[in-house]
Amino acid sequence: MTDFTMEKGADGAAIITWDVPNKSMNVLSLDGAAELNRLIDEALADEAVKGIVITSGKKDFAGGMDLNVIAGMKNNGGAQGVFDGVMTLHHLLRKIERAGMDPKTLKGGKPIAAALPGTALGIGLELPLSTHRIFAADNLKAKIGLPEIMVGIFPGAGGTTRLTRKLGAMMAAPFLLEGKLSDPKKAKAAGIIDEVAEDPVAAARDWVLNAKEADLVKPWDQKGYKMPGGEPFHPAGFMTFVGASAMVHGKTMGVYPAAKALLSAVYEGAMVPFDQALKIEARWFTNVLMNPSSGAMIRSLFINKEALEKGANRPDAPDQTVKKVGVLGAGMMGAGIAYVSAMAGIEVVLIDAKQEAADKGKSYSTALLDKAISRKKSTEEKKAEVLGLITATTDYAALSGCDLIVEAVFEDTGVKAEVTKKAEAVIPADAIFATNTSTLPISELAKASARPEQFIGIHFFSPVDKMLLVEIIKGAKTGPVAVAKALDFVRQIRKTPIVVNDARFFYANRCIIPYINEGVRMVAEGVNPVLIENAAKLMGMPLGPLQLVDETSIDLGVKIAKATRAAMGDAYPDSAVDEVLFWLADEGRLGRKSNSGFYAYDDAGKRLGLWEGLEAKYPIADEQPDLTEVQHRLMFAQTLEAVRALEEGVLEDIREGDVGAILGWGFAPWSGGPFSWLDMLGAGRAAEISDGLTERHGARFETPKLLREMAQKGESFYGRFGQQKQAA
Ligand code: NAD
Repeated sequence: MTDFTMEKGADGAAIITWDVPNKSMNVLSLDGAAELNRLIDEALADEAVKGIVITSGKKDFAGGMDLNVIAGMKNNGGAQGVFDGVMTLHHLLRKIERAGMDPKTLKGGKPIAAALPGTALGIGLELPLSTHRIFAADNLKAKIGLPEIMVGIFPGAGGTTRLTRKLGAMMAAPFLLEGKLSDPKKAKAAGIIDEVAEDPVAAARDWVLNAKEADLVKPWDQKGYKMPGGEPFHPAGFMTFVGASAMVHGKTMGVYPAAKALLSAVYEGAMVPFDQALKIEARWFTNVLMNPSSGAMIRSLFINKEALEKGANRPDAPDQTVKKVGVLGAGMMGAGIAYVSAMAGIEVVLIDAKQEAADKGKSYSTALLDKAISRKKSTEEKKAEVLGLITATTDYAALSGCDLIVEAVFEDTGVKAEVTKKAEAVIPADAIFATNTSTLPISELAKASARPEQFIGIHFFSPVDKMLLVEIIKGAKTGPVAVAKALDFVRQIRKTPIVVNDARFFYANRCIIPYINEGVRMVAEGVNPVLIENAAKLMGMPLGPLQLVDETSIDLGVKIAKATRAAMGDAYPDSAVDEVLFWLADEGRLGRKSNSGFYAYDDAGKRLGLWEGLEAKYPIADEQPDLTEVQHRLMFAQTLEAVRALEEGVLEDIREGDVGAILGWGFAPWSGGPFSWLDMLGAGRAAEISDGLTERHGARFETPKLLREMAQKGESFYGRFGQQKQAA
């Protein structure tokens, strides 16, 4: 296998082309790095070579490091394996940077430039940063940056050290700490790359053949180098680091080890010479990689998310790519589903009971596209093309030729049954009918269908255009082709699917409702609401339970509570919760949409703080629980429900349970998801905590049989359920 090839021109330019076979995007493996190392040695040693250009044979430069390789380094060699692997990369990139020059006189090096045709991410930017000049094509679609922080690590192949020294800590911060990506022109304006060129290879070739010796010496290798913005002990630099430290802690609540380690690598690295700084970066990178959080984040947010998107759980059925979708109901959800479908190039028939309602649903797409145009993220042509794909009508006959229907009418069995029948009278015999219900059992709704094996749940989250997860629900009679169709549709609209079995609230809502309820229940008990909200955030939940219920609306909570109580009768366990929610709804405090809920808001909708009236009704008790007790209640309310979903067979794959939790309701992403979190705790400790919670707070925390059994056998979720799925 050859990832890199070299062609030497008569003019003295050696062009090294990166083109990993059988992949649409270049990713760096350790073998690939060894090949590049050999070619660099050869070019530096060859007297006929005057300069070197590193480019790509693909439309993009590179997507980054192969994260499977990083996982492998850790699993095979432990901390030493990671450190040695990273130092190998540092040596290679430092060799490129020094390019054969005498380290004392800084003379005698050969110019090396990078030519980026398109996207350059992660190591795909760290490698160019080690060259002497970076040329990028004027390609608006190209993304340039260091997104490592998004999967729980940080740029560990010199990117952290080089970018900080190139831009200064303050200017480098958004690219390192937030993983901000830029197009080539913006990357040039920020000083990340050096030139935007029509033909970057030609420009780079020209540059390497004409560069002077001084052009090759990086500022940090020159005498008297000072970091832009000041080093940590410089008065200006000092302020940067104090501010950055506070900002990182505020944003991460201290639960993301990578952000803290990144800051340490930058801070400590800034005080020592460059080669020492690289070693410090490698140590902190190893530290982060050995932290269970980074492994769990890489596993869920990269490896397993991608596996699910590629159809890990797709039944063996022919291609089911959707050509024409009928969306029934043009309300909030239907309008969003029509938009994401048309954006994916699918023809859409958007139906509502009244023409105005159908038109209003279509105008949602117009509004989103106009906003994108005003932000220069779209064009008038794209808008015309997308809107041209959406037909808004009341006429069911327009559904003829639809190979998929997604129903999003009122949450009412009767209304849903009626539109199911009307649509099935028109659509082809092999079309698939999907419902977007959030609370009604799929198997029940399928009774209205003449073809229950072609009936399925495709459950979107609101707002549809932003939320990445789609839950696919199999009814009792749903067949494999319907599952394949739903998965192919989700792939087309570029979202992440999980496939679950039919049960009350499916998977995501089943776990999130107990989280909200536990928070509300504590308010009724007199726990300080500030403690409740902060306890959740200090566990890495993006929203506390009270803010979350304000966002989703209190009347929705009331509606769900009433329906659940009706279905469960005497077994209904949440009366204490209802008391609070029903009272707020009676007060007209419906959450964000009414600018009043658990929180107070100003007229512009800005959240001000917890509403004072809450304490008047539910006084704060003199004695408050420990932070850990509140955190355990909030986290176990969710995770025990996830375990029950697995135990009952609603979830068939823990990968879906973890990925779905993070993308669906923001479950503490640092943990990798509820099953990864339980594995970090260990089943024994987890069972001990749930036993304690049961004793103090009641049966809702009862340890599931599965968890008890795993505790007794000393098993982990990924040990017991992970391998078997991967092998399948
Ligand atoms: P909505 O009230 O905004 O929209 C429903 C639309 O259906 C309305 O425009 C209505 O005119 C139309 N409609 C009603 N009867 C019809 C008929 N016979 N023929 C054609 N159109 C008809 O509701 P929504 O929030 O978009 O929810 C729709 C569905 O999606 C529900 O089943 C709901 O449970 C589900 N859902 C909602 C959310 C959410 O956050 N709102 C999330 C996931 C799923």
